[in-house]
Amino acid sequence: MSLDIGNIVTYNPISYAWLYPLFIWEFYKTIGQPFLLNVLEKGWKYKTPLEKILQIYLEEEIFKIIEAEGGRKIIMEGNLLVEMLKKYGDRSDVFDIVCTWVTGLIVSRLHKEPDVPSFRAVRAIINCIAEELISPDGSVKAEPLDKVVSYRCKVCGSRFPSREDIRRHVTYTHLTPSDEIAASIEEEKTLIGYFLDLESLIKALRKENVDPETFFTRIHKFRALVHDDEDVPWIVERNGRRYLIIDPSWVRLVSRTREYERELMRGRER
Ligand SMILES: [Zn+2]
Repeated sequence: MSLDIGNIVTYNPISYAWLYPLFIWEFYKTIGQPFLLNVLEKGWKYKTPLEKILQIYLEEEIFKIIEAEGGRKIIMEGNLLVEMLKKYGDRSDVFDIVCTWVTGLIVSRLHKEPDVPSFRAVRAIINCIAEELISPDGSVKAEPLDKVVSYRCKVCGSRFPSREDIRRHVTYTHLTPSDEIAASIEEEKTLIGYFLDLESLIKALRKENVDPETFFTRIHKFRALVHDDEDVPWIVERNGRRYLIIDPSWVRLVSRTREYERELMRGRER
């Protein structure tokens, strides 16, 4: 899960409680030691009871609990998590994938819970991105906002930070006539974010009973959802409509979640 979502979910202690077991599982998985239920119970400091949270993990087959010698209870991967690890276990971003998947599952289960309002915001965002920016096959159809970061000379491959610099280089080093200068310059761009129609987002938030004013305060405070380039504004107006330029990680998250869903569904059909 990207840190960006963290700004909406994990800084909120109510919502963080729901993801906490997963984070601890990840830790024990990393160090290769058994994850004892007892550890989770002892360290529990959230208002929402652990049992209520674990119930969803068990129902969704993310975890299962087995009893070991001496009555110790160990939290192990459930069927779904085993399946995920089989599929993506040899990738370096496996925890990222698992976290994305599990968070998505939990968010979709919890959006109706009155005591986890920030999940409703995440769900609104995910729905809105899925509808507006992602094709049914999981590919990104969103319009990107790029920024030129450097200029490359097509003749010799050298890079320059500004258009002036490269024009000077092409003119004096390669003696390029002025009407051919543009053709020998290649702009190198980086992706800043994607256009998300502001009106659609506000509509999606209202649909999930999330107060847009509060939500936008959070965007400003934590820079959540939006891109992190200091030179580019968050809101861009175009043809009379306003767009929020959102961070590519959100679009990747939703696109990947769609892909996994399709892959897992295909796997189950076989
Ligand atoms: Zn050159």
